[in-house]
Amino acid sequence: MQTHNLGYPRIGSNRELKKACESYWSGKITLHELQSVGESIRKQNWKLQQEVGIDLIPSNDFSFYDQVLDMSLMVGAIPDRYHEVILQKGNNELDLYFAMARGYQQNGLDITAMEMTKWFDTNYHYIVPEFRKDQQFKLFSTKAIQEYNEAKHTGISTKPVLIGPVSYLLLGKEKESGFDRIDLIKNLLPVYLEILKKLDANHVEWVQFDEPFLAIELGAKEKKALHFAYSEIKKVFPSLKIILANYFDCFGENLETALSLPVHTLHLDLVRCPSQLHDILDSGKLGGQKHLSLGLIDGRNIWMNDFQKSLFYIQKAVDQIGSDRVWVAPSCSLIHSPCDLALETNEKSLAPQIKEWLAFAKQKIEEVVCLKKLAEKDPSLEALEQLGQNQRAIENRKTSTLIHNEQVKSRVKAINSRDDQRQSPFSIRQGIQKKALDLPLFPTTTIGSFPQTKEVRSWRARFKKGDLSREDYERLLEDETRESIVWQESIGMDVLVHGEFERNDMVEYFGEQLAGFAFTKNGWVQSYGSRCVKPPIIYGDVHRPAAMTVRWSAFAQSLTDKLVKGMLTGPVTILQWSFVRNDQPRSQTCTQIALAIRDEVVDLEKAGIKVIQIDEPAIREGLPLRKSDWQEYLNWAVRAFRISASGVKDETQIHTHMCYSEFNDIIQNIADMDADVITIECSRSQMELLDAFGQFNYPNEIGPGVYDIHSPRVPSRAEMVDLMEKAKEVIPVSNLWVNPDCGLKTRHWEETKKALTEMVGAAKDLREAM
Ligand code: GLN
Ligand code: ZN
Repeated sequence: MQTHNLGYPRIGSNRELKKACESYWSGKITLHELQSVGESIRKQNWKLQQEVGIDLIPSNDFSFYDQVLDMSLMVGAIPDRYHEVILQKGNNELDLYFAMARGYQQNGLDITAMEMTKWFDTNYHYIVPEFRKDQQFKLFSTKAIQEYNEAKHTGISTKPVLIGPVSYLLLGKEKESGFDRIDLIKNLLPVYLEILKKLDANHVEWVQFDEPFLAIELGAKEKKALHFAYSEIKKVFPSLKIILANYFDCFGENLETALSLPVHTLHLDLVRCPSQLHDILDSGKLGGQKHLSLGLIDGRNIWMNDFQKSLFYIQKAVDQIGSDRVWVAPSCSLIHSPCDLALETNEKSLAPQIKEWLAFAKQKIEEVVCLKKLAEKDPSLEALEQLGQNQRAIENRKTSTLIHNEQVKSRVKAINSRDDQRQSPFSIRQGIQKKALDLPLFPTTTIGSFPQTKEVRSWRARFKKGDLSREDYERLLEDETRESIVWQESIGMDVLVHGEFERNDMVEYFGEQLAGFAFTKNGWVQSYGSRCVKPPIIYGDVHRPAAMTVRWSAFAQSLTDKLVKGMLTGPVTILQWSFVRNDQPRSQTCTQIALAIRDEVVDLEKAGIKVIQIDEPAIREGLPLRKSDWQEYLNWAVRAFRISASGVKDETQIHTHMCYSEFNDIIQNIADMDADVITIECSRSQMELLDAFGQFNYPNEIGPGVYDIHSPRVPSRAEMVDLMEKAKEVIPVSNLWVNPDCGLKTRHWEETKKALTEMVGAAKDLREAM
């Protein structure tokens, strides 16, 4: 039996890579210094996996920014606009690489970055390859070979990891019309063969190809491309051992294709799709040679593995194909896990009882090795002792009063069909709200947060450290809030916000006040490039011990006669941006959060808040990989939002906010959420995305963002009027709001003030033109 790992976190257990990259970008360290940080992280990772006892350790899983961009550089898929950078920078590969990732504004050049998008259903973002019709590929970067050799020098014979050629093409985007990127496979494959030739010359034995598109519906062309690619590789390198990795879901209808490919080992994600082991073993199509890598340890979550359950799967596979052909592994690359649980020593944020149930990347590879030991004929006493410990922790989690709260469970059970319905349908509510709120046509508002200046962040840091008393901290926040209210009134904004100065992060702020959430000090996971996130851990039944936002909303409302909008994060977004418990369905956890948010909404209403926004920017990213699974998810996600929003009277106006631009395929579900007002990102797509709402005859009110908050650029009044004119063509005027694309947290006050003043002016122009 073999153990292997698909990829280890490369950010460093104290985010060394983040710090080094950012220092390099700002000119504080040299290229050489940056490279040596990379080298030391790689060495540490290899050594650590070797010491733990992993048989096959990955290389080329390290990346200074993103593994897909690494591949683009490897195969020379470098968009023309960067050729100037090559001329300026000579053969400094890393500067070209960062220019592609982040854009390049130097020495008279101003070149945009490549697009970035989510990696399957994770919160990791990759750089989207750009392809042209006559796209040529040529070996450009030999990083994979260099890292293989580097590891070899430290005495470790690694398994280079490459994104498979079919998935690489599918991850990209056609930058002109008239071709299908999968047809580029013929051009692309020779570069892969060249890389393999070089690796082969360095005596590489194993290569891992990641083809996660095997978890999504594939067309005939894509399947053909898979056959073509892997048959060619087999033909040219008959003795190279290829591991084909699929993860994040079942092979599904691609199973037959996967089984027919001439590869040595097939990796399966048994966390996301346990049933496929049975399907494969019983298909009769595995043949007498292929090995199976069982992805048993969850690479996407932080829970300790249930050894007994895993051993059951291992035993099943061993019984049918023999232990020689069975491998043990994490379900996917561990870049989606935090690095090391041992660094969590603060018992206040993470109680020892909870810590006992967790495993981060380092602990996960220990689990892999331990499972192998336990699966051996005569497991050592030490391994058996670990099994005992594991079982005790698993048992104790099942019954712990830290987790289980009967009141919460029975409240969820008692939810009835009225609980996700507002009192009256929107057509009636709209009239009641128009009367109660007395807003002009084209009402103006913002999405919630105002600039979080250095001062605001320093107050919070000092407060958390204990250098600032709660009283002083709150007084500073009150002053900041007051200033924002007075300013909004002065420019004539219609629905004000308090500014969210008291919040660190839109999920953490709520998690910290809800029961059932725990926090880490160092549980960072790469989100994109040098950006890392530290998701909360939902470990237990969720409820709201006390009001969470009423204090700040009520304070802000007390300062003005204008409407102040209450500001909450929705249940789906809180779920989506956390590590979620795996001992009950996600839908169940989401419903618990929905009830907690509902309580808050009701309390805000009681405190005199008449407009309440429940942000759901993450609804879309929760969509399962396979379209056939979408409806089930959307049903419970939409219901959770409705539960959170439906405890109030008709005259209370519920807003929601989403910041992305693809609505076409889920527009019915967005309408089903039945928010009185939805604000969406729009300005960058020039209102195009409103078409989805227009064509659908979306019934409720909409605020299409007219100000791109991702840029410091101040849009002009005329420009915003223009955008709204476009909106008027598809949405009835009585349903339109005027607002920015998203929150203003990352902006500076100077441009914010200018832009919002222009925006309020634009609304005035629109009214006058009526
Ligand atoms: N209310 C939040 C803010 O304004 C919304 C953020 C978001 O949509 N991501 O910051
Ligand atoms: Zn947003």
